[in-house]
Amino acid sequence: MADDRALVLLSGGQDSATCLAWALDRFSHVETIGFDYGQRHVVELQVRDHLREAMAAMRPDWRERLGEDHVLDLGLLGQVSDTALTRETEIAMQADGLPNTFVPGRNLVFLTMAAALAYRRGLRHIVGGMCETDYSGYPDCRDDTIKALQVALGLGMDRRFVLDTPLMWLDKAATWRLAEKLGGEDLVSLIRDHTISCYLGETGVRHTWGQGCGSCPACDLRSRGYLAYRSRGPQSAILKDRNQQ
Ligand code: ZN
Repeated sequence: MADDRALVLLSGGQDSATCLAWALDRFSHVETIGFDYGQRHVVELQVRDHLREAMAAMRPDWRERLGEDHVLDLGLLGQVSDTALTRETEIAMQADGLPNTFVPGRNLVFLTMAAALAYRRGLRHIVGGMCETDYSGYPDCRDDTIKALQVALGLGMDRRFVLDTPLMWLDKAATWRLAEKLGGEDLVSLIRDHTISCYLGETGVRHTWGQGCGSCPACDLRSRGYLAYRSRGPQSAILKDRNQQ
C-alpha cells in the first residue's frame, strides 16, 4: 500500500474542504468519499462536485492528483439515530451537554467504511476534519477516539492505515489561515462561498462568513471563527469583505 495515496472524507463543509486542499498539497493521489445518511443538510453533498472541480482548476498539480469520488449510502444511520440532524426537531442542548445534533457513533462508522474502501483502493492515508479545539463536544471527534480507531482498524484489517486529522488542534480561525496558506485568497473565497456547515442546510442568506441560518451551533462556530480570522488578516481582505456586504 503506497504511502502517498489518500482518501479524504469530503462532506462539503468548511473543515472537510480544507482537508481536501491539505491532502492535495501533500499526497500524489487523492480520492474523496462522501456519505448520504438522510442528513437534513443534504445540500452539503451537492456542493462536493463543485469543490472538487474548483480545486482541480486552481493548480495543475492538484488536478493531476485528484482521483475518484465515492458516495456511500449510509441510510441506516438515520434509521438508528433520533437526532436533530436526521429528523425535523428543533436543535437544542441536551442534559449531557451535547447538542441533540449528535449522531452516536457517526464518525466511527464513517471512518470504518472509509477504511474498507481505502483497503480496496490501496489508499493508506484517511483524512478527516475532526477537531476537538473548536467543536460541539462530540466524543467521536476527539483525538483519543481517532487514535484508538486507527489501532482498531489496523488490527482488524491488517493494514497500516494512518488516520490524518490536520485540524484536530486548530480553532476555526486557524483553519481559515491554513486554507489561506494552502491556496491563498482564492481558496479562502471558494471555501467561504461554496461550503455549507449549517446543520439546517440553509443556503438562502449569504453572510460575510458564507451561507447558513446564522443561529445553529455550526453557524455560530463558523461565523465567530471567520470574524476572528479576518480581524487579524490583511487589511485589503477586510475591505473586500465589507464591499461584498
Ligand atoms: Zn445554521
